[in-house]
Amino acid sequence: MQIKKLILLETFDTNTYLIWDRIEKVGTVIDPANKAEVIFKESQRLGFEIKYIINTHGHGDHIGANGKLKELTGAEICIHQLDNDKLKNPELNFSIFFDYHVTSPSADRFLEDNEIISIGSEQLKVLHTPGHSIGSICLLGNGFLISGDTLFFEGVGRTDLPGSDENELRQSIKEKLFILPDRTKVFPGHGGVTTIGHEKSHNPFIIF
Ligand SMILES: [Zn+2]
Ligand SMILES: [Zn+2]
Repeated sequence: MQIKKLILLETFDTNTYLIWDRIEKVGTVIDPANKAEVIFKESQRLGFEIKYIINTHGHGDHIGANGKLKELTGAEICIHQLDNDKLKNPELNFSIFFDYHVTSPSADRFLEDNEIISIGSEQLKVLHTPGHSIGSICLLGNGFLISGDTLFFEGVGRTDLPGSDENELRQSIKEKLFILPDRTKVFPGHGGVTTIGHEKSHNPFIIF
């Protein structure tokens, strides 16, 4: 499985990830924050068809290009059901508070805990990790994790927002992420790459 990171929404420094199977030439876009045309062109340049648009959660800085990208590709928008109401509502997705009015079409598919998403011959497993938002998910691939705003390099997502829950976030990270092998590479929704092992020993927000 191939992974490429794009930063298309500089104000929030959101990471958009392209994940694809080079042999079968199909892939997914995770958290298309902005600039659908750039994402689409990049997928064409890399030689794969976008089958899914997956949002790790429904905040405005992760969903901005959903609608346009769906128009360009016909890909299915996928999110956990508990964050679906954020897609259409700039107050619930907080974009309105940043003078950045974002909406997205409703999801085509709701993702559930432990569900498997097939991308060509490769697979991503959905982990429901509520805390930063009630419908936050992480995606587990072979040796790597897309962590959204749940886990960052030596940090975690905000829990001071309406709908966030600090205890739930801690529980999600401990019970669903820190049980993964230490060498698992973590690609977060903001900032640089880390590993589960590094976060288990260095993350100041998770106290055992
Ligand atoms: Zn967020
Ligand atoms: Zn974010």
